[in-house]
Amino acid sequence: MRIDIVTLFPGIVEPALSESILGRARARGLVDIRVVNLRDYAEGKHRITDDYQFGGGGGMVLKPEPLFAAVEALRTPSARVVLMDPRGRRFTQDVASELARASHLILLAGRYEGVDERVSSLADETLSIGDYVLTGGELPALVVTDAVTRLLPGALGAAGAAERESFASGLLEPPQYTRPEEFRGARVPAVLMSGDHARIARWRRTQALWLTWRQRPDLLARAELTADDRRWIERFELGETPPESDGR
Ligand code: SAH
Repeated sequence: MRIDIVTLFPGIVEPALSESILGRARARGLVDIRVVNLRDYAEGKHRITDDYQFGGGGGMVLKPEPLFAAVEALRTPSARVVLMDPRGRRFTQDVASELARASHLILLAGRYEGVDERVSSLADETLSIGDYVLTGGELPALVVTDAVTRLLPGALGAAGAAERESFASGLLEPPQYTRPEEFRGARVPAVLMSGDHARIARWRRTQALWLTWRQRPDLLARAELTADDRRWIERFELGETPPESDGR
C-alpha cells in the first residue's frame, strides 16, 4: 500500500511516521508512506501556496493550483484522493477498514482557513476526524494513516489482537492486565490466570458488553449480539453487574 501525505509542513508529519509500529511497517515495506511538500508544486519565485479569501472576512486559504499540480503528479490509476476537512464524512474504524483495502491513498492536508472550494472536485472524498477544528490537516492525515496502517496484515505483532479491539465487533475492548498480579492492592481478575480459554473468552465478552453498555450505549444498537449477549444486557438493565467486574 502507498500513502502520500501532501502538506505545507512535512516537519509535523515525518517524526510520527518513523517510530514504533508505523516506523517498522515502513521499514519492512508493508506500506510506502511519502510526505510531499506542497510548496514543491507552487509556481513562481516565491512559491506562494495561499492567498486572501474573496469576499473578505480575513484569513488565508490554500490556492487550488499547487494542490491540483501535486495530485496530478502523484496520481496512479487506483489512487483515492482524500481531502481532510472538518465538514467531511466522519472517520471511524469502519472507514479505516474500507481505506485499508485501497492500494494508494493521497491525503491532502489543509491549513489556515482551509482550501479553495474548487479543490473538492479534485478529491474523491472529504474526511473529518471529529467535530472540532484543528490548525491544519496534518494531524488528521496522521490519524488516518495510523489507523489504516495498523490494519495492514503483519503490521501488528500479535495475530488476533485486532479482533478483540474496540469497535472491531461493534463493542469496546474488555479490560487488559499485565504483571504484577497485585498492584497497590488491586488484583488481576482470577479468571485471566485460570488457563481456561472458554471461560476467559466468556469473561471478556461480558466485560466488553458491560463497558459498552455503560460508556457507549449508542454502539450497542449497531453491534452484532448473540442471545446470550442480550440476556446479559437485560440483567445490566435490572441492576446486575458482571462477575469479577473491577467496579470501574
Ligand atoms: N475554516 C474551516 C476550518 C479550517 S481548519 C472550517 O470552519 O471548516 C484548517 C485545515 O485543517 C482544514 O482545511 C483541514 O484540512 C484541517 N482540519 C481541521 N480540523 C479538522 C478535522 N476535524 N478533521 C479533518 N481535517 C481538519
